[in-house]
Amino acid sequence: MNAVSRDATMRAAVWTAPGHIDVRDVPYPRVPDGWLLLRVEYGGICGTDLSIVAGKHPRAAAPLVLGHEIVGTVLRSGADGPPVGTRVVAEPLISCGRCWACRNQESHVCRELELFGIDAAGGLADHMAVPADRVVPVQPGVPVRRAAWAEPLAVAVHAVARAQMRGGESVLVFGAGPIGILVALVARKAGAARTVVVEQKASRRKIAVDCGFETVPDGVDPATWFRSTHGSEGADIVFDAAGHPDVAGVLPASARETGTIVLVAVYGDPVALDLRAVCFGEQRLLGSRVYTRDDLTEAVALLPDDPLGLDRLPVAVFPLGDATAAFRAARADDAPMKVLLDIAEASTGTEVFTSPSDTRTGHMR
Ligand SMILES: [Zn+2]
Ligand SMILES: [Zn+2]
Repeated sequence: MNAVSRDATMRAAVWTAPGHIDVRDVPYPRVPDGWLLLRVEYGGICGTDLSIVAGKHPRAAAPLVLGHEIVGTVLRSGADGPPVGTRVVAEPLISCGRCWACRNQESHVCRELELFGIDAAGGLADHMAVPADRVVPVQPGVPVRRAAWAEPLAVAVHAVARAQMRGGESVLVFGAGPIGILVALVARKAGAARTVVVEQKASRRKIAVDCGFETVPDGVDPATWFRSTHGSEGADIVFDAAGHPDVAGVLPASARETGTIVLVAVYGDPVALDLRAVCFGEQRLLGSRVYTRDDLTEAVALLPDDPLGLDRLPVAVFPLGDATAAFRAARADDAPMKVLLDIAEASTGTEVFTSPSDTRTGHMR
């Protein structure tokens, strides 16, 4: 890398080694022809970031500027990008352009799929460079903090699109983390007649209840409970946003005959799954990976007027300088739905959490 003057540096949250994040000055990103430079406003932290920082992500290599859930404004634009000053959400996918998926308009499942913030520098930094066609403009008037939900929301939009809902379905969602809650919200918006959430952690079950979802009591078999309380033979659609081996074990039993099972969570290892039940019930077992461009565009379109109630979800906001505390909060047992880094705090004047000595959580919203 070229030597750079002090003026050519910016602050970034850098994963340096397992368990360690350092907020430090790094060189400005290079902005090749056809790319944009963003002034980052907010960056979200998700489970993938936690696994990277723990040193458990299979691809990420330190040192790495983290962050793939990014909203910011265009600071420098090329001919093809939106004008300077436009608020945008970054589309962090990097696909190879050569494999079967890329040649067939399915580049989100590119065989060599990479992401900014995992395989290349991300956006938990003052600035981020992205290809000009890798941003989605946010409608004026949408609060920037709500816009920070767009990337994980696109994951939920994609998962629900995979299920091809028509309305009136019964939906069972395993996992009340951010993705599970977002899937439940999008499924309800898509016309689910009833949406039930399965979650072991009481604090997260409460969030599901606050969102107006039924929850399965802790300690009972979700498949049996669903059938007995709903007088049905299993859910029309089951989403797995938990990714736990115990959940895999009950997925087929939770869906009705010819029902649909969508795998949203990423399993680290192969798990036991009752494929005979899938076979006998002629169930549809579908994978779901990230999102397409259309899904991200649809997620951004769901931001104005907040039809999903995203503003009600508990969020903690930390300044970039407190990235270590932010990651600690995201890992905590009572973690909020989303931890955000308010990166442009100095100039937006946004109210942010400033930490007392022992920070466990940020400003809950
Ligand atoms: Zn994420
Ligand atoms: Zn490809």
